[in-house]
Amino acid sequence: MKFTNLDERIHVVHPDSDSWKIIRDIAESGVQEEPFYVFDIGDIVHKYKEWKLKMPRVEPFYAVKCNDSSTVLEVLAALGTSFDCASKGEIMKVMELGVDPSRIIFANPTKPASHIRHAAAMGVDTMTFDNETELHKIKSLFPTAKLVIRIRADAAVAQCQLGMKFGCDANTEAPRLLKLARSLDLDVIGVSFHVGSGCGDPPAFRRAIASAKMLFNAGENLGYNFRILDIGGGFPGNKNSSIHKISEVVNAALEDYFPDPGLVRVIAEPGRFFVASAFTLATNIHSKREIPAGGETTSVMYYINDGVYGSFNSLLYDHAHVTPIPLKNHSGKLYPSSVWGPTCDGLDQVTEMALLPLMSVGEWIIFEDMGAYTLPVASPFNGFPLPKVHVIADETIWYMLKDHLPLTEDHFVLGGTPNNLRLGLDIAGNEVMQDWSMPSLCHQDSGSSLEDTSSSAFHFDYVEVGPIN
Ligand SMILES: *Cc1c(COP(=O)(O)O)cnc(C)c1O
Repeated sequence: MKFTNLDERIHVVHPDSDSWKIIRDIAESGVQEEPFYVFDIGDIVHKYKEWKLKMPRVEPFYAVKCNDSSTVLEVLAALGTSFDCASKGEIMKVMELGVDPSRIIFANPTKPASHIRHAAAMGVDTMTFDNETELHKIKSLFPTAKLVIRIRADAAVAQCQLGMKFGCDANTEAPRLLKLARSLDLDVIGVSFHVGSGCGDPPAFRRAIASAKMLFNAGENLGYNFRILDIGGGFPGNKNSSIHKISEVVNAALEDYFPDPGLVRVIAEPGRFFVASAFTLATNIHSKREIPAGGETTSVMYYINDGVYGSFNSLLYDHAHVTPIPLKNHSGKLYPSSVWGPTCDGLDQVTEMALLPLMSVGEWIIFEDMGAYTLPVASPFNGFPLPKVHVIADETIWYMLKDHLPLTEDHFVLGGTPNNLRLGLDIAGNEVMQDWSMPSLCHQDSGSSLEDTSSSAFHFDYVEVGPIN
């Protein structure tokens, strides 16, 4: 793989820098108009460390659908996570990074036949099911697959419920399905669930783990020896959130129901947790309407250049709520304000009501926590392009990750000065294909230079690396 698009390179920035500083710098350059993201890979590294600290027994399999950006996948693969893929395309994307098929779970309980065949051909042999038809399909297409039964275990409160679509009833359906699997001579190896994405009900994990234990016993009575417990996703990922409460519930339930780590491997499929806070979106006000009454402005409508057909599709599909933050400091009166996307659809509203200072056309509105369920779903409807992503890492993160495959030195650009960052911008809306071997891009005091990166190829040889702690 050759890097032709500068946006895919990771800019190494000074340790004092952060997403807000970079945004300020790009936005205030005066030449940027299109919306853009700043993606700090250090944020993912911190999340990984938090996970290891809080739930040391639970191995994360990142849910690719949440954000399938190559850099997200590369960073997580370098850190040593495994992956939850839902389709042939996701399996291909992860395996292209050199990830071993044993580090993938095909966690879609309803799989098209061709995708099952593809998994079989690639050696991805662990997959979930929650119905009888799927068992017969797997029997004919991939009879040696290792199966995980998915049970329904809904949280009382969740941002997105999944139970109406997936998961069989643990008491009524699951025992029957396990009997059928046994009679088909299929290899069932464990139990999975997903309490719902953005879980607001931590005890749901305990209830689900208790149900799983019951099925481990049912499996044993049928002659199975289950060894995988998959506690799914649902973990929060925004800046002001923590997995602390859920981790306490999970750890205690594991201690009570599955005390022996030697007997049962516990995995999870976090999506949102790893990526939500790593992405910050900067949007530009291109139009506004002040609503007058009695000779005074009573409320303001701002029109920005990203909306519900773009990044903010998460408002519709992910039931997200976002907070507009003016980039510029304002003092003075706050006005009831609404924020609208750029398309001609009346549905294209980003926030219905927020108290905001009076801003001018050309000013920037920032949205944090925009990494989960945003970009993979966005469309350029009505001719409005999707925001570019500027990837940054501070020097310590760069030093830690640069030799951990699939990341290599070639993924990084040293000298993340304001000018270098701006070079990655696509002001005219064209593909930027610059030569990165320009001397000005070399880091002043590192002594290393990025000579002729145009000829440096990405190597696929994958070397297993232990997780970084
Ligand atoms: C979407 C999904 C996930 C990720 O859920 P989060 O709430 O983002 O952690 C995990 N597993 C499965 C099967 C999913 O469909």
